[in-house]
Amino acid sequence: MKYILSGHVYWNDVQTLIQVFFPNLHYYETDTPQAEGLTVESRWNGTCAEAVLYENGVEKSSASFPGEENSEKEAKRCIKGALYHLLSKETGFYPQWGILTGVRPAKLANGLLKDGMTEEAAFQYLTEKYLVSPQKAKLMLQVGKEEQRILDSCGKDEVSLYIGIPFCPTRCLYCSFTAYPFSRYAKRVDAYLDALTKELTAIRHLMGGKRMRSIYIGGGTPTTLNEEQLKRLLHHVAQTFPLERDMEYTVEAGRPDTITREKLEIIKAYGADRISINPQTMNDHTLALVGRKHTAAQVEEIFHLAREAGHNNINMDLILGLPEEKPADVKRTMERIAALQPDNLTVHTLAVKRASRLKEELENFVLTQAGVLEEMLAIAAEGAGNMGMHPYYMYRQKNMVGNFENVGYCLPGKEGIYNVQIMEEKQTIFAAGAGGTTKMVEPATDRIERAFNVKSVEDYIARIDEMIARKEALAEKLGGRI
Ligand code: SF4
Repeated sequence: MKYILSGHVYWNDVQTLIQVFFPNLHYYETDTPQAEGLTVESRWNGTCAEAVLYENGVEKSSASFPGEENSEKEAKRCIKGALYHLLSKETGFYPQWGILTGVRPAKLANGLLKDGMTEEAAFQYLTEKYLVSPQKAKLMLQVGKEEQRILDSCGKDEVSLYIGIPFCPTRCLYCSFTAYPFSRYAKRVDAYLDALTKELTAIRHLMGGKRMRSIYIGGGTPTTLNEEQLKRLLHHVAQTFPLERDMEYTVEAGRPDTITREKLEIIKAYGADRISINPQTMNDHTLALVGRKHTAAQVEEIFHLAREAGHNNINMDLILGLPEEKPADVKRTMERIAALQPDNLTVHTLAVKRASRLKEELENFVLTQAGVLEEMLAIAAEGAGNMGMHPYYMYRQKNMVGNFENVGYCLPGKEGIYNVQIMEEKQTIFAAGAGGTTKMVEPATDRIERAFNVKSVEDYIARIDEMIARKEALAEKLGGRI
């Protein structure tokens, strides 16, 4: 897909919005309308944006969007607004998020309320200036307020911690995480844990007098570790970061095919108070299609085992828009989930991520249409509501099918603080393990600085001292103001 910029240089905004309407193509800037196919031109004259669509070199349609001032922010808003009007008119697709393409919509809603806008004024602002649908504007404000309430419950002297276990039994079709096949790395897991425990000890020193607010062990799938390895890791965590009052402690058990009764008991014994058991769908045909080597019945069996082991805060992840799924499949999934009565439910929309097998094999799959996904999202939201849950955090990703969102629902009092902190970026979150990104936040200014860990397991093991030194350098740069 080709596009022309006239009077401005904001190619990223133009490309991002075109992508919403014409996903998964290659996008190129050009000077003149192409003789064959579609070309979009985006113009800005300092007060008004215009978007023009050419078909086979001939102007087909146009739309304009007036601005209120000549600033970069306003130019970008109007440029996207004109493109939205043009492309929705041409395709008949009216994306519910309007021209919002950022990953943290609730943060924007929160910002408006904090700036002193009333809810009504913020609603009007989002629907009129950003063309967000009334339904999504309402969701943004509801989640924004919830996130703020949770942020207010956290102190300025607190930090959080992410621990990454980058192994999985098999790779799911849609996965872009740092996740390596456990069988291939089995001999390196102990060396990985050596490096990881060393990094955790170093993080403890960097925390100084700060309080640990939440720990999240994710991945990959942490429960790919065998019982002994899991015990070794959790023992080190318990020694290094003793459980404190109100500390939230999550282990993402994840794939049911990696979970055993003993692992559930070990997790409980070491004080983790939240776990995830992630079905993604309760449809066996889809599970096989996306490369998950477990059945829906196994999910149910493990869920009951977890309750027996005393886990009373269990999250379940779902993905809507998986290949070949219909709204009726989502309805069946929700019925089986409702029978289990989890405490948290995270509803994702499928995203075609760059590093995924799905992206490579895209021609073999038919992606769900936006209208159908809307129906699926409504089924999931209604199901969560019927279970007594409310939405409390939300984020969006690039290349989500239908350009929708991921929403975390929970029963009252079962909100995951880590989930909100990672979205709102108001607290320092240390990250240990291959592929982890430490974000240090200076509370006085909200300035964020990042330290990255290498992704490869071998590099991580070999260069662990360098990973630690990167964090130490960052902490020194911020002078302990984290
Ligand atoms: S379980 Fe999660 S991390 Fe592992 S391969 Fe599947 S999507 Fe990736």
